[in-house]
Amino acid sequence: MRRKMVVGNWKMHGSLKENKSLLEGVKQGVKHFHNADFVVCAPYPYLAQAQSLLQGSNIAWGAQNMCSTNDGAITGAVSPAMLVDFGCTHVIIGHSERRNLFNETDDTAAARFNAALEAGLIPIFCMGESHEERESDWTDYIVGRQLDSIIRRFGPQALVNAVLAYEPLWAVGTGNPATPEQAQEVHDFIRERIARCNMEIAANVRILYGGSVKPNNAAKLFAMPDIDGGLIGGASLSAKEFVPICQAANGELT
Ligand code: PEP
Repeated sequence: MRRKMVVGNWKMHGSLKENKSLLEGVKQGVKHFHNADFVVCAPYPYLAQAQSLLQGSNIAWGAQNMCSTNDGAITGAVSPAMLVDFGCTHVIIGHSERRNLFNETDDTAAARFNAALEAGLIPIFCMGESHEERESDWTDYIVGRQLDSIIRRFGPQALVNAVLAYEPLWAVGTGNPATPEQAQEVHDFIRERIARCNMEIAANVRILYGGSVKPNNAAKLFAMPDIDGGLIGGASLSAKEFVPICQAANGELT
């Protein structure tokens, strides 16, 4: 049985004041949810705040990116060791916004993925096709290529301590989510592709769906057999929206 997981990706949003009330609201809202794992990925400057407000709670925290090397003359970069220093357990790798706005490639995403594992962080590795790619029937090719960029370099074992996220670009931040059936089809494709290398790893790896998940669609998405929770952007900025999504992943209140 895979435990469900909900990850909030704040992107470049927040302030000390807003974060405090958001984190307190989420902390209060999920404190009795024991059947799923919860993570908040904050911008770098707010990791110390996340650490101080979330330690001792059932919410982990992480970053949205990192450098693939541990120190050096790389102006503006943040190392895996720095994330660990602030208590991060997770880091998003290869988000489509990083790939598109900062020219991150399969190669550089794979290097970051591996560096995260080496630092003891859990990479949340994002894959997904654009609208044009889906229209051209390239979804399997694109997602397969992105997944293979990890498996070919590091083997399926690299997925044991990782989380995958299917995030179709046409659904991220658009208010136009994939239907549960559309998402399930790609999640099944991802799991089957891993199973060709190692069935046990495929059965255990968590594959999150991301792209306009909201309180009104989370439960149906999370009910699909290969969807193990969500990577949540916009709705992670409000406790009123994020907590019900966490509840959908948690299932019945315990
Ligand atoms: C994301 O940022 O990864 C994301 C899925 O955003 P949204 O939920 O806003 O579509």
